[in-house]
Amino acid sequence: MWVATTRTEAQSRCRELRQAGRLALAPTMGALHEGHLSLIEAGRRAADAVVVSIFVNPTQFGPHEDFHRYPRPIEQDLAMCESAGAAGVFHPPVEQMYPPGEPACEVNVPALAADMEAAARPGHFAGVCRVVAKLFHIIQPHVACFGMKDYQQLAVVRAMTADLAWPIDILACPTIRERDGLAMSSRNRYLSDEQRGRAIGLHRSLLRARSMIVDQHVREVATIESAMRQTIGEHGFDAIDYATLRDPRTLAPLQVLQADTPVVALAAARLGTTRLLDNLVIRNPTP
Ligand code: AMP
Repeated sequence: MWVATTRTEAQSRCRELRQAGRLALAPTMGALHEGHLSLIEAGRRAADAVVVSIFVNPTQFGPHEDFHRYPRPIEQDLAMCESAGAAGVFHPPVEQMYPPGEPACEVNVPALAADMEAAARPGHFAGVCRVVAKLFHIIQPHVACFGMKDYQQLAVVRAMTADLAWPIDILACPTIRERDGLAMSSRNRYLSDEQRGRAIGLHRSLLRARSMIVDQHVREVATIESAMRQTIGEHGFDAIDYATLRDPRTLAPLQVLQADTPVVALAAARLGTTRLLDNLVIRNPTP
């Protein structure tokens, strides 16, 4: 497995891989866990070779967020990529992705990046779009793997790729969870044991929404959203950023559900200084 730290080396390595077959990219910020490994496995099934990028992207963090303390266990990450069968890893320093003095480009999908994560983290999706656009152009994959764990991010990346007519298939990978249901996340390692116990409240709020919709046939969205917030509150979260039901494709808010209304439940909340997010597709849109 090769490790490239410059754009030019990654470009030439990836050109070789594309000459041999289809290439998949799994973009990550490192501190890898089984969720990331599932992206690599999905890439291996969909293509002949997988390249993983490991880059803690400064432009998607707000000024008071965890950019500086974000975990960077690079040796362990490289060993995990190698045993998962990655062909190569692109692990650039910040100056490679953002050369000093280069005027910044803006890419965004305002219709999908207006609220939820975008409201809680101003500028976040502009940073995500910018780094994903750069990675797509450096690696030029046929397929790119993204986790459904970051549901709004997946929707934004899909829309950007479609609207800018990039010939890349976006592969949505299911959320990998701990045994109790907590979605795996690099940020879970910030949690104390006591917070870890309470963190499950986020997933429970989504299960409660699903049960109200599927088993109890509750139709009023406001009633379900308030029950979601109640469950999160009961687990002692310090603040709730959102707990909401949306259209799975457009992310538009919903008011009254019909028996066949497609719906995804999304929630984000804070335990101390740690921000957790999760979602559950309750009814898929018909294809
Ligand atoms: P991150 O390193 O947190 O930026 O995540 C990199 C990619 O891994 C994103 O596409 C995430 O959605 C995906 N991912 C993170 N956690 C999980 C998980 N628990 N299950 C599946 N995919 C995940």
